[in-house]
Amino acid sequence: MIVNVVGAGLAGSEVAYNLGKRGIKVRLYEMRPKKMTEVHKTGYFAELVCSNSFKSEEITNAEGLLKAEMKMMGSVVLDVAERTRVPSGKALAVDRTAFAREITKIIESVENVEIVREEVIGFDPAEDIWIVATGPATSKGLLSFLEELLGEDFMFFFDAVSPIVSFESIDMNRAFWGDRFGKGNDYINCPLTQEEYEELWKALVEAEVIEMEDFDRKLLFERCQPVEEIARSGKDALRYGPLRPTGLIDPRTGREPYAVVQLRREDREGKFYSLVGFQTRLKWGEQKKIIQKIPCLKDAEIVRYGVMHRNVYLNSPKVLDLFFRLKEHPNVFFAGQITGVEGYMESAASGIYVAYNVYRILKGLPPFRLPEETMMGALFGYIIEKVEGDLKPMYANFGLLPPLPVRVRNKFERRKLFAERAMKAMREFLGKNPW
Ligand SMILES: Cc1cc2nc3c(=O)[nH]c(=O)nc-3n(C[C@H](O)[C@H](O)[C@H](O)COP(=O)(O)OP(=O)(O)OC[C@H]3O[C@@H](n4cnc5c(N)ncnc54)[C@H](O)[C@@H]3O)c2cc1C
Repeated sequence: MIVNVVGAGLAGSEVAYNLGKRGIKVRLYEMRPKKMTEVHKTGYFAELVCSNSFKSEEITNAEGLLKAEMKMMGSVVLDVAERTRVPSGKALAVDRTAFAREITKIIESVENVEIVREEVIGFDPAEDIWIVATGPATSKGLLSFLEELLGEDFMFFFDAVSPIVSFESIDMNRAFWGDRFGKGNDYINCPLTQEEYEELWKALVEAEVIEMEDFDRKLLFERCQPVEEIARSGKDALRYGPLRPTGLIDPRTGREPYAVVQLRREDREGKFYSLVGFQTRLKWGEQKKIIQKIPCLKDAEIVRYGVMHRNVYLNSPKVLDLFFRLKEHPNVFFAGQITGVEGYMESAASGIYVAYNVYRILKGLPPFRLPEETMMGALFGYIIEKVEGDLKPMYANFGLLPPLPVRVRNKFERRKLFAERAMKAMREFLGKNPW
């Protein structure tokens, strides 16, 4: 049977390489350079569309741990990144042209990989295996086909995400539970005094934003206003908008606070909470400073920063199974950013995971999830099983991992233990289930 891979980005390159070199026949479709996307500039595979950094290599950093696991599973992206690196402190940054050129050369030389430089605009989901790895800039032709296949409710076309913090980093001595007018206890409320509110407002008004294309601005702002824009419309705008205290009584004072930042649960286990109404275009450093101005969140661990940008991804918990395969069409898999993972390395990692299971299936073996103690296992499991409400793209972070058996206060020590546990779990898993 032939495996068709659509898109030779970070994820598609991993899939094609890892299957091809194991003797599986792969047909890899890439539409560039014949048809370009809005963000890519060359015809190379695995082109980096923005930063040339793959972030940290330290395993006490979530991105570093992800890389260590990818290395254990065999990653062409990581291998080439290490060979084309440029000096960048503790981060792994690459010469982007050398990196993409080398990946292209390697994949072109894998015997079992046939390369077809064409846009795919549809396929028969019952024939052969299809792995769609077309990323955030999936072509319009293919999008129409996917919408028809899945139903338009199962696809998202933009991200307007508020920052997300871990529950354990919220100061619950100051915050209080409760919905407006005592109708339930689902929200965490972070009260602000007038002075704290004004300080937060000022920081929001002065903060630096990431500029966006006019098209994106129109598309996004029609749906929801960034928090900094609301702040700019007047000093009280937030207090009468997303930060209104109406119907929220602080049990410590018996009164409504001056303003309230509400936090809404993001996952079934209650490990993550997002700041209600805080969708934003602020730069990440600015977001951190601003969140720390909210007294209940002054030590908050931000597991995901807010963004507003165009994107394309599936409502994966609804349409995919744990192996990133369509529930309705088990010959069709997805990999990369289109599954709801976010980031270069996360996309590449999902490509390895999908390739691993497609390989197993083709060898007559059952597919496997990766251990949930690993960063890869936790991230992919989160996307399919743990999200409450609509999926918001997620990158690697320690908050995804199951808690340690003992509470460790020191952050560095805690991360070291997480990393050691993850590496051990991955080693044992691959020892038992090699490929
Ligand atoms: C503007 C922008 C900036 C980003 N910056 C960063 C960043 O700095 N750091 C970071 O970690 N992540 C960043 N990301 C997020 C993301 O992780 C990357 O986009 C990553 O490249 C996704 O990998 P992928 O393999 O899923 O998709 P891609 O790498 O985009 O690969 C998809 C491939 O599919 C091809 N394709 C699309 N449609 C078709 C079709 N119908 N037929 C055939 N081929 C097709 C495309 O040409 C492309 O080569 C950014 C995303 C965007 C949109």
